[in-house]
Amino acid sequence: MAIKTTVLTRPKMKETSYLRAALKGMKITLAHMLNPKSVTQQYPEVETRLSPRWRGTHRMEVHADGRPKCVACGLCPTVCPANCIRLVGGEDDQGNRYPVVYEIDEFRCIFCGMCQEVCPVEAIHVGQDFENAEYTRDRFVYDLDRLMNQDHPTSLLWDPTDPKSE
Ligand code: SF4
Ligand code: SF4
Repeated sequence: MAIKTTVLTRPKMKETSYLRAALKGMKITLAHMLNPKSVTQQYPEVETRLSPRWRGTHRMEVHADGRPKCVACGLCPTVCPANCIRLVGGEDDQGNRYPVVYEIDEFRCIFCGMCQEVCPVEAIHVGQDFENAEYTRDRFVYDLDRLMNQDHPTSLLWDPTDPKSE
């Protein structure tokens, strides 16, 4: 198949108007301000409601005795398209596998939710949380303890039989 190329010329200075663009933006803002149906959310004073299918910061489920539910099967780091999960598995005296190291780089994560979908023991979840701003990049690497201490609700996976979560 032949490749067709289209060359777009940059508009000349006299053909552009920043004033016109600014007025256009202000018109949209004004229309929203005067729309009686507009709602102003008083964030952060009032808690923001998120969709139950919102996919944000991860959390690791724990057993009643405080152990992580992860069995270090290796599926989530394998499936992760962003390659942002680091897992080093170990085995206890009874032959049970557990994560010696489990880290997620939330900065690289694309919040696709595939780690949650693939986990055979429902250990790792994306969560209904977005307030994870940090001052340094290394703080976005969540280790196992931090993942286990997250307490926000977990996300619902998309259900093809109930596409709108009704
Ligand atoms: S949500 Fe997607 S990108 Fe993020 S850790 Fe899970 S699998 Fe990787
Ligand atoms: S898929 Fe689940 S059990 Fe397997 S390594 Fe990931 S969190 Fe652990």
